[in-house]
Amino acid sequence: LPVVAVVGRPNVGKSTLVNRILGRREAVVEDTPGVTRDRVFYEAEWTGHDFWLVDTGGWEDRVQGIAYRVAEQAEIAIDLADVVMFVVDATVGITTTDEQLLKVLRKAKRPVLLVANKVDDARTEMEAAALWNLGLGQPHVVSATHGRGSGDLLDAVVAALPAEGRGAAPDSGPRRVALVGRPNVGKSSLLNKLAGENRVVVDDLAGTTRDPVDEKIELGGEVWTFVDTAGIRRRILQTQGADFYASLRTRSALDRAEVAVVLLEASEPISTQDLKIIDMVLESGRALVLAFNKWDLIDEERRHQLEREIEKDLGHVAWAPRVNLSARTGRHTDKLVPALKIALESWDTRIPTSRLNAFLGTLVAAHPHPLRGGKQSRILFATQARTRPPRIVIFASGFLEHGYRRFIERRLREDFGFEGSPIEIGVRIRE
Ligand code: GDP
Repeated sequence: LPVVAVVGRPNVGKSTLVNRILGRREAVVEDTPGVTRDRVFYEAEWTGHDFWLVDTGGWEDRVQGIAYRVAEQAEIAIDLADVVMFVVDATVGITTTDEQLLKVLRKAKRPVLLVANKVDDARTEMEAAALWNLGLGQPHVVSATHGRGSGDLLDAVVAALPAEGRGAAPDSGPRRVALVGRPNVGKSSLLNKLAGENRVVVDDLAGTTRDPVDEKIELGGEVWTFVDTAGIRRRILQTQGADFYASLRTRSALDRAEVAVVLLEASEPISTQDLKIIDMVLESGRALVLAFNKWDLIDEERRHQLEREIEKDLGHVAWAPRVNLSARTGRHTDKLVPALKIALESWDTRIPTSRLNAFLGTLVAAHPHPLRGGKQSRILFATQARTRPPRIVIFASGFLEHGYRRFIERRLREDFGFEGSPIEIGVRIRE
């Protein structure tokens, strides 16, 4: 989906505006569960157009220094957004902080909509009109608290959206890989290693306005696109506010990828941050490969300890292929490609309906759904509704318990593999 970022200095009313946009009856809002927990990334819809709405005000409390915040917001807008809403306070006018932000936004080559907020009376309306001077076109006059102007603003946002978002991943062309992991696990080292030892395909970027955010590298005789590598290459933001920024980046990368390589550090205990990143991948529905980096640093004892940690913390993704590598020495970096291929093949798998039903028929005959209140839920029919990732829809005569669905998934994996791919199981109840 395309991304719309709301930027502006503190207190101009960004979050109020976001609430206003999401609170409108026409905007179907979903606070996407789990991912950032920062409540800053929202799925929004306006007149049939879906987009991500990013509230950069969401993390203001946690970082220090206005200049820093402004710089970071601008960076986010440049890196992630297809359209930027630049919010200013019409009752105050343009401050030096606004000007700073503006300077960076001008370089960003993204459509910028100037939003003059807090226009509640005729006097501020006059002042808002003066904002034409900024050279960002017509100021969009709104009052986030009263709701004025937000519909027109959204119309303008939708008009500025690209036909296909930055997020749109084409079905053809090289397969798209997101290299994700917490800071310092070695993402950029791995990327450098891969790019350094293999052929890097240079796109002709002349005439495009976008940053070259992707890198194409030939590995194992095939070209692979590593998406969103600008965030890996650019390290200036990995200080304050890094968590927030990193989770946005990860999400954006996953959005555009087909398969994720989650990089973990073999020499360090598996952390909650690692698990959060894995959760993000699961929520994204992308294929998954786990790679343990810095293998050169660990000894026998740590290796055993790591195995125990994996058993304890990563049981829910035991289906993901694992590569133990070292970006520093290059050990087993050639094992990435086979793992990626397996995961993508599973992700693309389609089981013919007849085979699926034969499998389920046998399974259910041997292990029927448990009786509940004297009633027996029966499985009538199943079909694979989708691939990438595989989604199986089961038609049943009644409710299927969570445990029973898990059981079916386990057996599906035993029979059909699906190594490296999540499986979605949906149930429709039919009389
Ligand atoms: P990123 O934040 O995930 O991009 O991590 P970097 O690639 O910047 O790596 C963080 C640190 O770990 C750097 O000091 C690297 O030199 C080091 N590093 C990365 N990979 C390895 C590895 O395989 N072995 C060792 N010993 N150090 C590594």
